[in-house]
Amino acid sequence: MPIHSKGRLGYRMLASGLLVASLGPIPGRSQAHAVLFDGARLIIGDARPPIERGAFVVQHGHITAIGPQGSVKAPPGAIHVDLTGKTVMPTLNNVHVHVGYEGYVSWGVENHTPENVQDHLEREAFYGVGTAMTMGDQPIDFAIRFQRAQRAAAFPPAARFFFAAGMAPPGGGPDALLIQGTTPLHAVSEVSTPEEAVAAVRNFAARRVGEVKFWVDNRDNTRGGRKKMPPEVYTALIAEAHRHGMIVHAHATNLQDQKGVVKAGVDVLVHTVVNEPIDDEMMALLREKKPYWAPVMGLADRSELCDDANPFIEQVLPDRVIADIRAGKTWLPSSPCSAPPNAQAVQREANLQYNFPKYIAAGARIVLGTDAGVSAKYSYGFAEHHEIGMYVRLGMTPAEAIIVSTSRPTEVLRIQDTGTLAKGKRADFLVLSANPLENIRNTREIDSVYLGGARLDREALQAKFKRAVVDRDVTHARRKRDYVPHPASPTK
Ligand SMILES: [Zn+2]
Repeated sequence: MPIHSKGRLGYRMLASGLLVASLGPIPGRSQAHAVLFDGARLIIGDARPPIERGAFVVQHGHITAIGPQGSVKAPPGAIHVDLTGKTVMPTLNNVHVHVGYEGYVSWGVENHTPENVQDHLEREAFYGVGTAMTMGDQPIDFAIRFQRAQRAAAFPPAARFFFAAGMAPPGGGPDALLIQGTTPLHAVSEVSTPEEAVAAVRNFAARRVGEVKFWVDNRDNTRGGRKKMPPEVYTALIAEAHRHGMIVHAHATNLQDQKGVVKAGVDVLVHTVVNEPIDDEMMALLREKKPYWAPVMGLADRSELCDDANPFIEQVLPDRVIADIRAGKTWLPSSPCSAPPNAQAVQREANLQYNFPKYIAAGARIVLGTDAGVSAKYSYGFAEHHEIGMYVRLGMTPAEAIIVSTSRPTEVLRIQDTGTLAKGKRADFLVLSANPLENIRNTREIDSVYLGGARLDREALQAKFKRAVVDRDVTHARRKRDYVPHPASPTK
């Protein structure tokens, strides 16, 4: 495959080029000597109350001591950073994104390079996201290589990359846009029978992939009447994945499919039923199984860019992209800001207001996810802050919304080194100029972001993000010419 070899080449170039850069005294390297961060309100990230005036020591990228101001002793020679009046919270962790294909002025498989994945992870980090898990949309070899290289510090600081392998019925799976990226890269394993699902899981397990996502998919009618993944297939898939200690995420958007996958024991339920109220049977299933739940709701919302100036989002997008979003010229079709609110949107909001608290009350363990990567209007980093705002709007307290966006996703990611401000954890944290416990919108008041104890150079990143590099209309015309929608899936 020419695309694969191009990807490998790009990857080598990136790895070697950056290795040289990282030898210099660039900002963002964690320091060997200790730093005392003093005087801030510390939001721990779990059920514990905040420390109103706290202090913590960071050394070798980790928190080595934390407590009320005055109780924490810094080692001799430690640098002091006065954070009086600030609030510190752990970085966010996102269990549901789609990296690699977004180009802002273009979208597609030709954008899928290590450089672009790195760019997306840098955008996440810019907004205070420490880890991001991409969902069933990467070629496995690419994902394994990228993750290995990132762990070897081959790339500049960014959100840590995690991935789930993808599985779907033939021709099904990703939406009409995402599938244009995943199909040419063979990123999704297509399975029709329980035996094929089991074989695919064993293949993932042999490569030490720890997470799998499958799409039940209710979009098959637009794809030549192909079938959804039937319960006997996903039941076998989940059982086999659990035999190998894997975590399974299920994309299911309607009530019947959600009941099916929860009944079958899925670990992470993805999406929220928005077209009807959930019923007692669904509530009983959630109560019994207590799945993690990534509601990923905000993608369908009107863009925040429709409401006056929004520097929080505008700061990372080229002006042309902002104009495109407002005009509804996004790759995944969306309404322009000028469109009046429709009856469907009103009904959706009413169902969200009804359903969201019911999922939570029944015991669904909500975790942060955004679905960023299919539309510039709801993209890496700022989508998290919108999604967290929705949790609070739909009934959670800010403290709860922070827990489900910081520590709890680490249970799904199966990492223990981040997610709370605690001794022994990586120093992954956000310094905020205002208190999000008072108003959740204050998670946006980002003063600085630290990953592994190193301050992120947000100014340099922002300057890079603001640059537009491709002519959107030229790209669009080329893609229209070259692309055949929904090509037939290769049979194995
Ligand atoms: Zn998704």
